[in-house]
Amino acid sequence: MLGVRNCTTMAEAAGILSGDRHAVLLGGGTLVMRDVNEGRLTEGTLVRVTDPAFRQINAGGGRIELGAGVTMAQILASRDLAFLHPAARAIGGPAIRNMATVGGNLFAACPYGDFTVALLALDAQVVLHAGFGSGRATPLDEFLAGRDRGTTPGLVAGVQFSRPANPGDFRFRKISRVKPKGISVLSIAAHLPAQAGRIMQPRVAYGAMAPAPIRARGVERALENKTLDAAAIQAAKQAALEGCQPATDAIASEWYRREVLPVHLGRLLAGEPR
Ligand SMILES: Cc1cc2nc3c(=O)[nH]c(=O)nc-3n(C[C@H](O)[C@H](O)[C@H](O)COP(=O)(O)OP(=O)(O)OC[C@H]3O[C@@H](n4cnc5c(N)ncnc54)[C@H](O)[C@@H]3O)c2cc1C
Repeated sequence: MLGVRNCTTMAEAAGILSGDRHAVLLGGGTLVMRDVNEGRLTEGTLVRVTDPAFRQINAGGGRIELGAGVTMAQILASRDLAFLHPAARAIGGPAIRNMATVGGNLFAACPYGDFTVALLALDAQVVLHAGFGSGRATPLDEFLAGRDRGTTPGLVAGVQFSRPANPGDFRFRKISRVKPKGISVLSIAAHLPAQAGRIMQPRVAYGAMAPAPIRARGVERALENKTLDAAAIQAAKQAALEGCQPATDAIASEWYRREVLPVHLGRLLAGEPR
């Protein structure tokens, strides 16, 4: 049988998750409730967090904090987060965006996880609540590697990252066959800070090009200390597939994903409209 526990604090929820291996955190429930409705999840405890901090956005300054329970609709309603609107708008349709949380997106299996791709390009830290004591921050790429090894992280309290100095330095695009709300063929996010016209410490990330969102390290190397001209974009396209292991699924074949990624990367870097 399935039970529900409502927790008024994150500490209480984290305690239940760390002490009961059949306990499942219920974020917006867009994936969990599908498992319940389709009979894949029939036993255990669904843990709901009503702590207001879980749904809090702090985005007034240079360091941005999003509670794990913040929804895509909340992000779209925040002017301070305008640079993230393309990524939040890429998640499902309006009904899904009203429920889908930042925390849940970190766990969504490929080809889902579009918002996480944006967070990876922003060098986000994931704040874990271990059940006892205060939160611990871990880099998102480490978190994703642990997730794929099946390490149980407990409760994710939120994510933190620095605001891009110039909103135009951050770019996101999702490629899908059905517009505007189809599942990803792939997604790309890039943070391209520049000094004196040269790209410095770029971060580029892909979704649906590996079992979890990945950094495009070859592209990052190709762009480092370059002006974003045709030659640099060509070099980035040549390095685009380094580290990629795309799957064949109902949305696209591995071959197709490999074929179209460099094309869309080139368009994103050139600032071409979708
Ligand atoms: C019709 C439909 C369309 C969709 N389209 C997209 C899309 O375009 N792009 C996309 O990326 N995703 C999409 N999704 C997947 C999903 O809606 C999103 O990834 C969403 O962000 C998941 O968040 P959630 O809060 O609903 O997760 P939930 O269903 O609540 O949880 C998902 C998993 O994450 C765990 N979890 C959630 N929050 C936490 C936390 N704070 N700490 C620890 N564990 C946690 C849960 O225990 C569960 O295992 C779609 C889903 C549906 C049903």
